[in-house]
Amino acid sequence: MKMNTLGSYKEPAPIKDKLNPFDSMMSRFNIAAELLELEPDVYNVLKSPTKQVTVSLPITMDDGSMQVFEGYRVVHSDILGPSKGGIRFDMGVNIDEVKALAAWMTWKCAVVDIPYGGAKGGIKCDPRSMSRGEVERLTRAYTQHMVDVFGPEKDIPAPDMGTGPEVMAWLLDEYSKMKGKTSSAVVTGKPLVMGGSLGRTEATGRGVMVSALNALNKMGLKPTEVSCAIQGFGNVGSWAAKLLMEQGVKVCAISDISGGYWNKDGIDIDAAIAYRDTHNRSLEGFDGAEKITNDELLTADVDILVPAAMEDVITVKNAAQIKAKLIVEGANGPTSAEADSIIKEKGILVVPDILANAGGVTVSYFEWVQNRLGYKWDLDRVNRRSERILTEGFDHVYKTMEKYNVSMRIAAYIVAIEKVSQTFHYRGGF
Ligand code: GLU
Repeated sequence: MKMNTLGSYKEPAPIKDKLNPFDSMMSRFNIAAELLELEPDVYNVLKSPTKQVTVSLPITMDDGSMQVFEGYRVVHSDILGPSKGGIRFDMGVNIDEVKALAAWMTWKCAVVDIPYGGAKGGIKCDPRSMSRGEVERLTRAYTQHMVDVFGPEKDIPAPDMGTGPEVMAWLLDEYSKMKGKTSSAVVTGKPLVMGGSLGRTEATGRGVMVSALNALNKMGLKPTEVSCAIQGFGNVGSWAAKLLMEQGVKVCAISDISGGYWNKDGIDIDAAIAYRDTHNRSLEGFDGAEKITNDELLTADVDILVPAAMEDVITVKNAAQIKAKLIVEGANGPTSAEADSIIKEKGILVVPDILANAGGVTVSYFEWVQNRLGYKWDLDRVNRRSERILTEGFDHVYKTMEKYNVSMRIAAYIVAIEKVSQTFHYRGGF
């Protein structure tokens, strides 16, 4: 297998509940819309994406053959500002998934009060089995096709599963060449030397840690007296694990594509990261813990569960067996809509994805602000401001949860939909 330098990995495909990701998003949206008594006109505007682009990308592979890839960009909403959201390179990418992820970006930016709409892009491909050159050509072709969709004041991509700073650098370069000028603010999550922000790489994982601490505080628990299991050891999961460990949380379980790893006394996360980075980005063979299955990790006897891999891993099939009292969603959509009620009945507090993983887009916003100012912030400023934004978002959602007597997830949708619909009223339609 040809390897490249891209960081992400993929968990084995989970057994899906019957809803597709977009329907799963809509079922939560519907509950919140009803509680808010959202007017039908606004409901109709928010329920369908404003723009959906599908492109076909013929790429010459290294062996001379040609492969045609399908790429997507969905802009769910630009009501709050230019649309924002990552680009995913993964074999599971399809239009329904991209639509759901785009809508989640709208709600995510609104929950933490960032002046962006929501979008998402993706290409159905397996970057791990492609050479660096093949991934570069694919990225450049995708950018050429999307040149009229993207723009620093229009639609701003960022990394997601299967993409990272290198892909963002190619995108920026191709876009800039086509426009005849360097346009740094068209993409975030860039390499530092190209105008990336300090703290962007670890931003999502740091936000997960901040959200976990905020929730523990409400539960009257100290980080030093709780244990945690983290599913996924890519950018989000490994940073969340490291930062939670630094706060004194005992991280007893981690996992990646090679399976789960358990140590009741706590795993040395720095050792696990060092192991992964020197072993083909995999934990396979890591001896600081005993091997468990992915399902055992999700139902492990810990206080906090952090699903940080992909959609639909907590489902009706395993929700009843979860022992954690707090779930902090590092991934987008890790809990199926049908599992929500089981989890609520069990009294588990869930910090939902659109709040818990908003640290990434928050620091993306800071990157875009710095690019437009032509100025660079130090790491301390980035981290302090992002922590403040996430904590304000958390408090707002928590108060809304108490006011409406709903889960934190529905409360987060209520906060988001309220903000977007109020703005829509001012902006108006045709
Ligand atoms: N892909 C990340 C997310 O799902 C980051 C998006 C961004 O920074 O624009 O939140």
